[in-house]
Amino acid sequence: MEAVVKDTLELEEISLEGYDKVYKVEDASVGLKAIICLHNLTLGPALGGIRIQPYETFEEALYDVKRLAMGMTYKSAVSRSRWGGGKSVIMADPKFKTEEQLRAFGRAIDRLGGTYIGAEDVGCSPKDVKVISKETKYVVGLESEKSSGNPSCFTAWGVYRGIQAALQKVYGSKSVAGKVVAIQGVGSVGTFLADMLFWNGAKLILSDVASEKAERLAKQYGAKFCSPEEIFSQECDVLAPCALGGVINPLTIDKLNCKIVAGAANNQLLSEFDGETLREKGILYAPDFVINAGGLINVSSELNPEGYNPVEVRAKIDGIYQYLLSIFEEAERSECSTDKAARTIGDHLIANKIGLRDQDPCFHHCTV
Ligand code: NAD
Repeated sequence: MEAVVKDTLELEEISLEGYDKVYKVEDASVGLKAIICLHNLTLGPALGGIRIQPYETFEEALYDVKRLAMGMTYKSAVSRSRWGGGKSVIMADPKFKTEEQLRAFGRAIDRLGGTYIGAEDVGCSPKDVKVISKETKYVVGLESEKSSGNPSCFTAWGVYRGIQAALQKVYGSKSVAGKVVAIQGVGSVGTFLADMLFWNGAKLILSDVASEKAERLAKQYGAKFCSPEEIFSQECDVLAPCALGGVINPLTIDKLNCKIVAGAANNQLLSEFDGETLREKGILYAPDFVINAGGLINVSSELNPEGYNPVEVRAKIDGIYQYLLSIFEEAERSECSTDKAARTIGDHLIANKIGLRDQDPCFHHCTV
């Protein structure tokens, strides 16, 4: 006789103003506590990463997931990716996550029937996504032949093109040759970015809390190494935050000695006022949700009916260059921060349903 396993997973819908659907997820039998936050579903199902982090309180996790989910709405709209915006967080130390927790979270995603599609994010590797996929098809970015794998080099390519757009705006030439770029965080994206910049003639300053890694790369690229505390005050053309969110704030803006802030990290501005302060200081900011859309564009491709095509992805990511130039122009015309201008463009696209998803996603990885 087959044992009957009781499903102890609970999804409680929470009502939050300005958010389409938010779910508190719990499965006491495996110690799972999570939130799935779908900010805006106007253009299509929400596609966004699954972050695993040891948040101390539910409120802290909710604050983070709300900001991240809203960022995904704008990222998707402005990059014309035809998705809604959402994100999820699992409240756990990634070092101690268990297969049971990941699978229970997969069942939670599955219960939403495709309104949320998950992907890797901080603390959640493609291997973890593979575990989650045992319970649901609604995931992307798996390490499999019919999936798109690690998006980091595509994100870095978008950031590289974004840096070129910012240089074009500030110096009248998009060339990175001879320009000084300071990278905060040489993880997956930062390392690819350093490589692209090096081979195109930029001078690099590298920093990471894992200082050995940054020192090793600095040696490899003939770059300057600096400590995490010193990165903000480095004299450079471009500061590229590629580590954490909230790094552009009143304390750091005071120290900045750069012409441009353009990097991969999500939620770089601590608040919208910081975008305004950058503008007042004459520093051009490439809104994070525009410049770092390469990863989203890459995973989206695997859901096309024809399947994943990296050559098309590269071409689509090239579009970030033009999107950013338009945002810089709009900010100048409206005398507002580039962050505000990008959000206004996103709001316009959503309100007019420009970029509405017109075909169902195909989960090719399920047919492997
Ligand atoms: P990662 O974890 O591989 O790298 C982050 C690096 O930053 C690590 O090497 C870490 O040691 C370093 N770091 C952490 N705190 C630091 C600090 N205070 N000072 C200096 N270095 C510090 O992450 P990643 O995949 O490279 O992503 C980097 C950022 O870009 C994250 O904010 C992520 O959300 C965002 N992002 C990534 C992708 C992607 O495709 N991976 C896509 C969009 C956005």
